[in-house]
Amino acid sequence: MEQGMISGLVLAGGRGSRMGNVDKGLQPFRSSTMVEHVLARLRPQVGPVAISANRNLDTYRAFDVMVLPDEIADGLEPFPGPLAGLEAGLRHCATPYLLAVPCDSPFLPSDLAARLSAALQEADADVAYAATQEPGMRAQPHPVFCLVRVDRLPALSSYLSEGGRRVDGWYRDLKAVEVIFDDADAFRNINTLDELRGLDASSPPAPPPFPASLAQVASCINGYDPDALRVQDAQRIIRDFVQPVRAVEMVALRTALGRVLARDLVSPIDVPAHDNSAMDGYALRGADLPPEGTVTLRVAGIAYAGKPLDIAIRPGECVRIMTGGVMPAGCDSVLPQEFADSTTDDTVTLRAGAIRPGDNRRLAGEDLKAGSAALKAGRIIRPADLGLCASLGFAEIPVQRRLRVAFFSTGDELRSIGQALDAGCVYDSNRYTIYGMLTRLGCEIIDMGVVGDSPEALEEALRTACENADAIITSGGVSVGAADYTKQVMGQLGDVTFWKIGMRPGRPLAFGRVSSNGRSAFLFGLPGNPVAVMVSFYFFAREALLQMMGAEAPLPLLRARSNSPIRKKPGRTEYQRGIVARGDDGEPEVRITGSQGSGILRSMSEANCMVVLHDGQGNVAAGEMVDILPFEGLF
Ligand code: AMP
Ligand code: MG
Repeated sequence: MEQGMISGLVLAGGRGSRMGNVDKGLQPFRSSTMVEHVLARLRPQVGPVAISANRNLDTYRAFDVMVLPDEIADGLEPFPGPLAGLEAGLRHCATPYLLAVPCDSPFLPSDLAARLSAALQEADADVAYAATQEPGMRAQPHPVFCLVRVDRLPALSSYLSEGGRRVDGWYRDLKAVEVIFDDADAFRNINTLDELRGLDASSPPAPPPFPASLAQVASCINGYDPDALRVQDAQRIIRDFVQPVRAVEMVALRTALGRVLARDLVSPIDVPAHDNSAMDGYALRGADLPPEGTVTLRVAGIAYAGKPLDIAIRPGECVRIMTGGVMPAGCDSVLPQEFADSTTDDTVTLRAGAIRPGDNRRLAGEDLKAGSAALKAGRIIRPADLGLCASLGFAEIPVQRRLRVAFFSTGDELRSIGQALDAGCVYDSNRYTIYGMLTRLGCEIIDMGVVGDSPEALEEALRTACENADAIITSGGVSVGAADYTKQVMGQLGDVTFWKIGMRPGRPLAFGRVSSNGRSAFLFGLPGNPVAVMVSFYFFAREALLQMMGAEAPLPLLRARSNSPIRKKPGRTEYQRGIVARGDDGEPEVRITGSQGSGILRSMSEANCMVVLHDGQGNVAAGEMVDILPFEGLF
């Protein structure tokens, strides 16, 4: 059995009454927690991993796993025991088998999955569980270390609904095999705090992981100069500094559109499940195709889609078959009906060369094989993926929780829509472009409005933002000559660097991490000019936000011919706004939209692509090829 066909489930939903009602899995153990030891041993043996827990759900989610609370509850007993956890695990399991282990077994065997699955398959059983045996003694079962067929869920649900609670009690309803392991210590569970402390003392603690500072990360860049930083170096520092927010939730399939898949999805079935016909016509045996002349075959029955014909086809026979109809036993080819020479009610005549053996047959599993990864974690779910998941029967899929992004504009001159435009003031447009860009990325947004140019207002806004969001986007106030307090305030709240980047538009950028009251958030202080804010968002913030979401969505640069010369200074990256269309020869040709000033938002609105002129590039001649980044795609 392939590893990908087995999901792992750590049972951590108990009350921990013997540990002073603490959550057992989260007890510190050998410099991490008990459950992390279990995960470290379980992960290499299985595909997706989940934890069944009823408390501290967010803490468990931080281990980058799906966390499943019980879905049944007893009147008096809040958590009905391991079987309830197992039931929740089976309900959400996307693979055909589930391996459950308790959260207090930090020494579980590294061949647990392999040995249980071998025994399960050999005995064609429903469940395989571990046991140990001392010489001359009766075997001692460890029923909570078990590999279960996921399609046995209904049996478990009915056992639970009849009041059954014992794991080994449920096994009586099933075909169960016991697998003897040699190392009894591997199944040792830790039940009391004393036991835990005793074991914990036996190994020295490892030093805690050290979060890198921005300065450390930046020191990896050759000749790092914050006042003259190349675009690619700034992008790299951001990439190395940002960390993913690990939190997974199960959502109904339709809701997953545009969300980031949190785990590889392993196909539990072959798609299609059977060899079937790609055409309306006649299913026949390839061996019956005539080498020359014609042959007449007897039509032995009709196979409709969804109504397999349960007869074996003998030489000289064929079956009338509809598209999607299951290939009858013995048939390997389909003659499309329009290729038949002649037909009667119960015969079909065909000519040599009409088809070749094997034609027009779709093979079982040709779309997806059982056990293969249908979709990889990190993918942003698109319409085709919804269909693919549906074809596998997934009603829910695990996605990353939405990234929460707070944003505000700074500037005393800014007015919000609806306010009077006083002399010298402008309407705040950045908050709308940022709203649009964040929404398109699938973020949960927190619009904090306009913040005036004062240190107190800025500090308060930043604190509120980082107490409520994973990332903060600000616009304005970071350019040279802007009030110095921005630097001061952002610096006081965390690890923030101010850069001057070799690019146009959008030279100034503040980046780092700020914290307040124990919460922290990554900060992108974008410039205020309306085009600069968009360019900086797309080329710096976008990738970082996706990285925080655990998504992979690199931007594809395409090539197009420039219809006119473009002036460009080497030594900085320029992002010009362009309109790409087919040229006279049918090849893509790009022209620059009017004025390229960094405040001229119309240039952005008219454009359908960005022309990316790289660092080392100089003037572009008419007809020369340039890199472009199209704004819209099909999906
Ligand atoms: P700053 O980066 O704060 O010096 O702003 C640079 C320029 O962008 C100034 O002309 C600002 O008025 C303008 N600006 C800043 N923020 C916004 C905004 N939210 N909407 C429109 N224009 C803005
Ligand atoms: Mg300003």
